[in-house]
Amino acid sequence: MIGCTCEVCQSTDPRDRRLRPSIHVDVPGRASILVDTTPDLRQQALAYRITRLDAVLFTHSHADHILGLDEIRSFNFIQQKPMPCYATAAVWENIQQMFRYVFDGVPRQGGGIPKVEAHDVEGPFTVAGVQVVPVPLWHGRMPILGFRFGSFAYLTDCSAIPDESWGLVAGVDTLVIDGLRDRKHSTHFTVAEALEAIDRIAPRRAYLTHMSHDLGHAATSARMPAGVELAHDGLVLDATVDVA
Ligand SMILES: [Zn+2]
Ligand SMILES: [Zn+2]
Ligand SMILES: [Zn+2]
Repeated sequence: MIGCTCEVCQSTDPRDRRLRPSIHVDVPGRASILVDTTPDLRQQALAYRITRLDAVLFTHSHADHILGLDEIRSFNFIQQKPMPCYATAAVWENIQQMFRYVFDGVPRQGGGIPKVEAHDVEGPFTVAGVQVVPVPLWHGRMPILGFRFGSFAYLTDCSAIPDESWGLVAGVDTLVIDGLRDRKHSTHFTVAEALEAIDRIAPRRAYLTHMSHDLGHAATSARMPAGVELAHDGLVLDATVDVA
């Protein structure tokens, strides 16, 4: 946190240095998929050597998940084509308002704009041959999406899982799920709520994400039950995806 002098913000443990929440799904030889374009996308792409993308998926339109959209320009330049991007119609409406210069069709001199090929998410879809199952979630009162790729599911920014979504994540091997802090929050799972959801979904292993500075990596990890860890920047997880 800017200006914070708490133990976690001053920690020298690299796992306590957290950029904004995002994942990169790399299916070697087939697909490179980014979930969310955070304000830290440039740093993330440089640090983790993401040099091409087949698609971008959006969970929702909060600033910490979309403000890096302009960085798509680099991939447009490298790949010489617009970037296929997937979001719900409601999220597109917000993105179009927030990034008016990208969508208003006004020609601009210099700088350029990201070229976005917008796709509406209305159900399961395929990206570069990889099957993606959107998982409806509640983020407070806002409906948002998690995503399942084969044996792996990414459920960030959620405070409740609707009845119809439990079946969509049934049988996952690896689960990444929101676990903001211990104190109750209106739009995010607490650690205890995340652990309850993990118990019910029963993956082989689970990782908390979107932690606040209330949760230091080492101290919080030490009190997690078996099979549950805290995610951290640069964490790499192997999973099996479904291909079309
Ligand atoms: Zn702090
Ligand atoms: Zn959010
Ligand atoms: Zn968020």
